[in-house]
Amino acid sequence: MSAETFPEIREAVRRLCARFPGAYWRALDRERQYPTEFVAALTEAGFLSVLIPEAYGGSGLGLAAGAAVLEEIHRSGSNGAACHAQMYTMGVVLRHGSAEQKAAYLPKVASGELRLQAFGVTEPDAGTDTTRITTFARRDGDRYIVNGKKLWISRAEHSDLMVLLCRTTARDAAAKPSDGMSVLLVDMREAVGKGLTVRPVRTMLNHATTKLFFEDLEVPVANRIGEEGQGFRYILDGMNAERILIAAECIGDARFFIDRAGAYARERQVFGRPIGENQGVQFPIARAYVQMTAASHMVDHAAALFEVGQPCGTEANMAKLAASEASWYAADMCVQTHGGFGFAEEYDIERKFRETRLYQVAPISTNLILSHVATHVLNLPKSF
Ligand SMILES: Cc1cc2nc3c(=O)[nH]c(=O)nc-3n(C[C@H](O)[C@H](O)[C@H](O)COP(=O)(O)OP(=O)(O)OC[C@H]3O[C@@H](n4cnc5c(N)ncnc54)[C@H](O)[C@@H]3O)c2cc1C
Repeated sequence: MSAETFPEIREAVRRLCARFPGAYWRALDRERQYPTEFVAALTEAGFLSVLIPEAYGGSGLGLAAGAAVLEEIHRSGSNGAACHAQMYTMGVVLRHGSAEQKAAYLPKVASGELRLQAFGVTEPDAGTDTTRITTFARRDGDRYIVNGKKLWISRAEHSDLMVLLCRTTARDAAAKPSDGMSVLLVDMREAVGKGLTVRPVRTMLNHATTKLFFEDLEVPVANRIGEEGQGFRYILDGMNAERILIAAECIGDARFFIDRAGAYARERQVFGRPIGENQGVQFPIARAYVQMTAASHMVDHAAALFEVGQPCGTEANMAKLAASEASWYAADMCVQTHGGFGFAEEYDIERKFRETRLYQVAPISTNLILSHVATHVLNLPKSF
């Protein structure tokens, strides 16, 4: 086995997470409440700004360090989804923002003074086909007037800024379907109630996700990131980082389930011996470990490519698919190993089981990854 990467960071994250035990997460889960104290502690400790360059007040570390932070959060039984986007959403400003925008926003994002963790892409009628989004920003002098709606926009109620993808040219008037979209940085503090309505959506897991309605929302042109019409490209290149980091969360979840299942299988006595003595119980735990380890190497590989600026779209996708399937297999195995107790809230297994299911759908669903591999890597005919 290879040695653990970033042992000091991991140890510090583990110590922080120990202050937020299962009882903390269970209470929030019951009420679908946001983990404000946990997010504040991570922010204060600097874990959410590891990817921001030192010149802007962050730690200037690479993606693998961010992956280590999120993996440990998930391994400890906590959940990084409440704040993981604070780590990577700033990438669009860092890579495509103007010098003024970077100076204005990044130091405040690094210090936690500004929360930049809402990312508005998905729409109810477009689904995965992002080129079909219809939220439209019409230019009117030095501002855009935005109309439309978004769905599944997470953390919108807990963010000061939102990266919003919208059309500035209608799809059928653009040279190609992926042209004519632009990225606006929306200041939520000014927008809510003045053209932007945010409605929470209750889901099977405690995930602060929302629907957004835009009715003549004014956004200054100065808040556009990069060139008008090029937004889809800017969003796409942030997606690799997101997929790799979320894959790391899945690895953390898989480790959580394997740790818990192993401990229980050694302890629980049935028919006068530990259940873990039965190969019918051991083998699924071992299989989960094999799958998690293989996926973890894929995550490391994708992160290494990303860090040196190599193309990594396929690898980021494959890492996300492998890790989300490994965490789901491990989740199912862990419930089975615990028998009835797998369903009891106090064990945290059923909560983590619900939480880890998300990752086969978001931020990109398994079928879309398989389609990418089939057509881009294996040269099979396109189906859409
Ligand atoms: C809890 C949660 C949080 C989210 N947070 C955010 C967020 O913060 N910001 C944001 O922008 N989005 C967010 N999303 C949206 C998420 O990225 C999408 O749900 C996801 O990309 C899938 O899109 P969809 O739900 O529109 O599914 P659809 O595109 O409607 O697809 C439905 C199913 O059909 C399959 N499918 C579709 N087309 C094909 C095809 N051609 N071939 C084979 N299979 C196909 C898909 O794989 C999927 O299984 C979130 C979603 C959830 C559930």
